[in-house]
Amino acid sequence: MFEGLSGKLTAVFDRLRGRGALSEEDVSAALREVRVALLEADVALPVARDLINKVRERAVGQEVIRSVAPGQQVVKIVNDALVEALGGAGAPTGIDLNAPAPVAILMVGLQGSGKTTSSGKIALRLKNRDRKKVLLASLDVHRPAAQQQLATLANQTGVTSLPIIPFQTPLEIAARALDTAKRELYDVVILDTAGRLAIDEALMAEVAEVKRFATPHETLLVVDAMTGQDAVNTAREFHEKVGVTGIVMTRVDGDARGGAALSMRAVTGAPIKLLGAGEKLDALEDFHPERIAGRILGMGDIVSLVEKAAATIDQAEAEKLAARMQKGIFTLEDYAKQLEQIGKMGSLQGILGMLPGVGKIKQQMAGANLDESILKRQAAIISSMTAKERRAPDIIKASRKKRIAAGSGVQVQDVNRLLKQFDDMSAMMKRMNKLGQKGLMRGGLG
Ligand code: GDP
Repeated sequence: MFEGLSGKLTAVFDRLRGRGALSEEDVSAALREVRVALLEADVALPVARDLINKVRERAVGQEVIRSVAPGQQVVKIVNDALVEALGGAGAPTGIDLNAPAPVAILMVGLQGSGKTTSSGKIALRLKNRDRKKVLLASLDVHRPAAQQQLATLANQTGVTSLPIIPFQTPLEIAARALDTAKRELYDVVILDTAGRLAIDEALMAEVAEVKRFATPHETLLVVDAMTGQDAVNTAREFHEKVGVTGIVMTRVDGDARGGAALSMRAVTGAPIKLLGAGEKLDALEDFHPERIAGRILGMGDIVSLVEKAAATIDQAEAEKLAARMQKGIFTLEDYAKQLEQIGKMGSLQGILGMLPGVGKIKQQMAGANLDESILKRQAAIISSMTAKERRAPDIIKASRKKRIAAGSGVQVQDVNRLLKQFDDMSAMMKRMNKLGQKGLMRGGLG
């Protein structure tokens, strides 16, 4: 998600970047486009208007007009306004467990929003990452299979769920869950409430009653990012009728338009605490306003990228490779190792999405040769070569190319393309090495 907005804003700022100095009209023209982009991304009108006004106030006048790189400045101002609108830099993220145990977490939201799945994800994370003893309980007495669904999920995650006793009311189940949690020394008890297809007064009253009774430390509203503006209305209703302490936004793995995040935050004042990014139970992420704002602006999610790299890349291997490259050694074997590391980081599209400035390139290249199958094919070609050929690809003659192509199930052109690409890469690396050394001599600013 957030891709659309990111691309549009990047286009707007590319135009700004091209200019030497900015007039007030330039700022206004850019902001008109920012406004359209925000609205198209499903940001609620008043929220978009607010944001634009804030940016205009800061942009027009000394800051932008006198600056040397006005485009960059506007980007920075929009970025800061976005971060603020999303909750501010360093806003608390994740779940607040700062209360005497057992800490009760109440999960509320519409049916199908991902409430039960998110309950399971949160339980799993608290158990594995925070080493908490977690009890899951479903208070959904309206949908016949709901309690069983949560029990199954709990089973999968190795978390305990409250034994099901038929015909109890939600309040009775809540009482039993809290009592069990106290007696059996649980750290956290997660109460999953009944969903509803749409805002329904009776069910809303039921949730409010459970909340009064259970006095949860966190009341988390689960909303589906794909529902856009509806999600914002849902958030408003729940916030007014029940009161929420945070929002869990699910299905951010879909192509939802990111505006809902901005609007929900503005409308409820409640922080977005977690993002659901897939059906699997480990697909739960912390919400970082700075990162999301950066992504919206196409400035890349560098922090996420670095974290991901740190978690998946074999550091020792990477350092060895870097040391060799510094010496100007880069062979097809090294290239094959790099391909393997990239493969480990997951989807290439995903990685690209996190890099700054590639939003546009990515669109152009979508479906072209940014395909993971190409990486695999290249790795296969390299593995069909002899060790000697890998170290000195210049010795590969036409007849060997044919054999290598046949051995890896590709065409001779593919082998040629790989060799050419490798040549280009080696050349680039040599250039970078030279530049790097010059840079060092000049104090790193070369
Ligand atoms: P509930 O009715 O609110 O409890 O919703 P469920 O937890 O049963 O989820 C409804 C459907 O959405 C299930 O098929 C889930 O696998 C799916 N789902 C939940 N969270 C996510 C998410 O973050 N991403 C995706 N793609 N699917 C999700």
